[in-house]
Amino acid sequence: MATNLLGLDAQGMERFFAGLGEKPFRARQVLKWIHRRGAAGFGEMTDIARELRAKLAASAAIEPPAVAGDSSSADGTRKWLLKVDGANAVEAVFIPEEGRGTLCVSSQAGCTLDCAFCSTGKQGFNRNLSAAEIVGQLWLANRALGVHGRAGAVGAGNRAISNVVFMGMGEPTMNLDAVIPAARLMIDENGYGLSRRRVTVSTSGVVPGMDRLAAECPVALAVSLHAPDDALRDRLVPVNRKYPIRELLKACNRYLERAPRDFITFEYVMLEGVNDSDAQAMALLGVAARVRCKFNLIPFNPFPDSGFKRSPAERVRRFAEVLQRGGITVTTRKTRGDGIDAACGQLAGEVADRTRRSRTIPIEELRA
Ligand code: SF4
Repeated sequence: MATNLLGLDAQGMERFFAGLGEKPFRARQVLKWIHRRGAAGFGEMTDIARELRAKLAASAAIEPPAVAGDSSSADGTRKWLLKVDGANAVEAVFIPEEGRGTLCVSSQAGCTLDCAFCSTGKQGFNRNLSAAEIVGQLWLANRALGVHGRAGAVGAGNRAISNVVFMGMGEPTMNLDAVIPAARLMIDENGYGLSRRRVTVSTSGVVPGMDRLAAECPVALAVSLHAPDDALRDRLVPVNRKYPIRELLKACNRYLERAPRDFITFEYVMLEGVNDSDAQAMALLGVAARVRCKFNLIPFNPFPDSGFKRSPAERVRRFAEVLQRGGITVTTRKTRGDGIDAACGQLAGEVADRTRRSRTIPIEELRA
């Protein structure tokens, strides 16, 4: 079977070329052609000898997921539905903002973790994505946004995508065998050349995964906190039962040892009457005092049968104020892409569920 070169990081590519009896610099050349210039076939690689191109055509391929849907909303947000096999499709979303463009990528078809407020979690889980399927989202988005093919292409200061966040479908730290090579390609100067701090992995708090990421590819880290205490977090983010807040905060501090000038971004989805009181904001100050961090408040995006409501804007403002008065940097995420279900927590794709998950936790159970 042909090797899909889209998913090979620098080391993997060098190994592949060594297997063909080729020098490492050839691997770097091909890496640049694929990721910086967006080459879709070996015929385009004009500075590679004809014989090597023929060898590559016989043993390798450049195969992104197939685009099954492409929609834009009035605010410029664009969402792609990408078929990864006959039964599963995942979503990637581009969010343009003043001075930056962020691509949100998926790492799994579905998710095993079943957070109570999450649309993806409700879809169940089918499988991990490969590194090629993850990087393929960035490769396709660059092509669709017209970055590849322009003079200089990726890395010449004309990139539309300046940031990548692993916040689409799936829990990235449950698929690190693919996420790590994908993240390495994103920060490799022969790949996408993004700075380490502009690639963010978001986790719901899988402690061993956080430790491995810290050791192997310490990009920026966001942690989905969503509650100030274990009693509520156990119910909103069930993985907390295995890795409670105390363990999570220790893992955050170990992570920061590997990324010394960084901070942890705590994501906090605002659910009316569940986790949005002044007392809960005060309790968060105690959490924040134990880790170098900032908070990102996310107004909840309702989806059918979620059982939750978005906190009113005034409540979010007041909650942010309590945190800020306690000396914490707080941002509040603007709701983007509403018209195309591309806002946070709304990525659903199409998952051939193998977990038979259909349970929805009643709201009464979740209220403190
Ligand atoms: S919030 Fe993230 S970890 Fe939780 S179920 Fe959704 S995709 Fe999975």
